[in-house]
Amino acid sequence: MTAVLLAEDDEAIAAPLSRALGREGYDVTVEQTGPEALERALEEDYDLLILDLGLPGMDGLEVCRQVRAHSSELAVLMLTARTDEVDFVVGLDAGADDYVGKPFRLAELMARVRALLRRRGGPEGSVVEVAGIRLEPAARRVLVNGTEVALANKEYELLRVLLEHAGEVVSRDAILSEVWGGMDLRGSKTLDMHMSWLRRKIGDEGPVAKRRITTVRGVGFRINTD
Ligand code: CA
Repeated sequence: MTAVLLAEDDEAIAAPLSRALGREGYDVTVEQTGPEALERALEEDYDLLILDLGLPGMDGLEVCRQVRAHSSELAVLMLTARTDEVDFVVGLDAGADDYVGKPFRLAELMARVRALLRRRGGPEGSVVEVAGIRLEPAARRVLVNGTEVALANKEYELLRVLLEHAGEVVSRDAILSEVWGGMDLRGSKTLDMHMSWLRRKIGDEGPVAKRRITTVRGVGFRINTD
């Protein structure tokens, strides 16, 4: 059974959310403070942590950092009332896998939970190798010219989407939908920031004409096959 730890101090959110998770067959534990959530997360074996950013005792970012320092397996979905991009990036930087702004619709949150558990759940797809970049989904590993590079979750997903459509332009909307689950980030710099981090990590910052990933202005991105 999939075990979910819900760290949320607002009863008006925690109660309906834990009921909805229970109805979908998840085994849910609710904690209302940062220290208690952290202790649970470290001591017990959960598949997913749904983590409110504003928790008493220790905020969600710190809980996330400490969880990450001990476990890279646990999926973390951050909840926050603050929806500006800075918090979004800081949350991902602390090691969250995904992020939902309050207020949210239960149906949307449940869809994100399923997507996150699916991504975490099992190795899918086969090894792809394009222009010296090798992606091994089963090992969740990326090698560039034979050397492993460590990518954050969104960077990995970005690369995966581009590699799955190697040689073709992938539209910004398609990327946002695949990687950010359809969050409305159009007009935001989020995709571009992650793309530049990905480029840096895979060493794709040379002259534009020689780059592996081409920016197709006004459309999207293409990973080149040669
Ligand atoms: Ca709160």
